[in-house]
Amino acid sequence: MGVLEHTSRRFNTFLHIKTRIYRKFSYDYTQTRVLSTNYSNNAPILPVLIVGAGPVGLVLSVLLTKLGIKCAVVERSNEFSKHPQAHFINNRSMEIFRKLDGLAEEIQRSQPPVELWRKFIYCTSLTGSVIGSVDHMQSQDFDQIVSPVSVAHFSQYKLNALLTKQLEAIGFTIRNEGLNHRHLAEREILMGHTCTSVEPTDNFINVTTSSVTEGNHIVNQIPCRFLVGADGAGSTVRNLVGIELRGEKDIQKLVSVHFLSRELGRYLMYEKPGMLFFIFNPGAIGVLVAHDLKQGEFILQMPFYPPQQKFEDFTSETCKKLIFKLVGHELADINVVDIKPWVMHAEVAEKYLACDNHIILAGDAAHRFPPAGGFGMLICIFFGDNIGYIFLVSLRSLFFVGPNVSKLVLQSSLLGPTS
Ligand SMILES: Cc1cc2nc3c(=O)[nH]c(=O)nc-3n(C[C@H](O)[C@H](O)[C@H](O)COP(=O)(O)OP(=O)(O)OC[C@H]3O[C@@H](n4cnc5c(N)ncnc54)[C@H](O)[C@@H]3O)c2cc1C
Repeated sequence: MGVLEHTSRRFNTFLHIKTRIYRKFSYDYTQTRVLSTNYSNNAPILPVLIVGAGPVGLVLSVLLTKLGIKCAVVERSNEFSKHPQAHFINNRSMEIFRKLDGLAEEIQRSQPPVELWRKFIYCTSLTGSVIGSVDHMQSQDFDQIVSPVSVAHFSQYKLNALLTKQLEAIGFTIRNEGLNHRHLAEREILMGHTCTSVEPTDNFINVTTSSVTEGNHIVNQIPCRFLVGADGAGSTVRNLVGIELRGEKDIQKLVSVHFLSRELGRYLMYEKPGMLFFIFNPGAIGVLVAHDLKQGEFILQMPFYPPQQKFEDFTSETCKKLIFKLVGHELADINVVDIKPWVMHAEVAEKYLACDNHIILAGDAAHRFPPAGGFGMLICIFFGDNIGYIFLVSLRSLFFVGPNVSKLVLQSSLLGPTS
């Protein structure tokens, strides 16, 4: 039986004595006709609902389940993103993964050999002159002296795939269909469901999701005790509860091009193996991330400058031409898989908790990092790990020493930068 079940009676008492009247936080979705609504007046209250099945939502689901805390996930997309974003995994993340049934070992087995990704290379083109190269790995990264696990280089979408495999192994089901008039159960990941409003009541948080099934717009109500907004940099949950971000916004607009070329992979593997290539020439500039040289899988990051340039200018053909300029010649086997815009910010939420500590922001929803240093996903994973224990300690406190201590633990552990 989960920790939360033990505590629910006292939790209810705690919530009932609150005097604050909450309002409903929602987006205006009235432009879309709602054809069906799944109301859930008698729905069981989920201990923890996570919005967002990115790395932080997935890691948190595994950790909470292992701690005996029941949870489920709603995810806006119909499928997991295949766009390789984060790729560098540091020691601390690997230590957390070590707790997850061989995940660290599986990453180490599946990643490219370290000799292929330890360098950053600065050049005028991939086949042209090298301005300089830096070996960013230190022996302590691999020697298992400061940590029992080494750093790793493994694409975020591959990590997400391993995490979903882990979740399935501990009883999670990934569902693409709607709820069809049933309630969301623990250990479910509901794909294609967007969180559109949150309404705190005296006893629970009522979360509304919207989805489209066979052309019908379906609205579901999911009651939960705690809601975790792990819904990324543009977080709906954060916006709904009105938490502001502080820091530097719109530092740089970038285009991220996911492409495959075994020809380029083979060339770099033998001539100048590295993880990041900073390429500067009069025709184009960009940072190439070699996700997997053996497979020839790359991401190219190119800055762009509105209003002179706009994202729509970066068609597949334009991107190929820019890649050829950066490579120094044409590639016969290039396959542009995906082109996405993104904006670099350095911002942190003014606080991570809302609605009397029952709504928690996690991951990019709480802090948006520039990619240099590869902190985005890593901080998300630490955060997911911490939240798991904080829930456990908080809920145990609730059970053993009462709501005020529980509230204190949550508050002191998850306070935002200035709260
Ligand atoms: C180009 C690039 C390179 C990067 N490289 C690195 C790196 O090397 N190392 C590193 O550590 N980090 C890196 N990052 C950052 C890293 O990708 C992010 O920090 C990480 O994805 C954040 O994880 P998350 O789970 O918080 O959010 P996300 O991965 O954004 O996941 C959020 C999920 O929530 C879903 N969602 C959003 N809104 C809703 C809603 N209303 N209802 C339901 N679901 C919703 C989204 O569909 C998404 O699946 C990089 C980022 C980019 C863009």
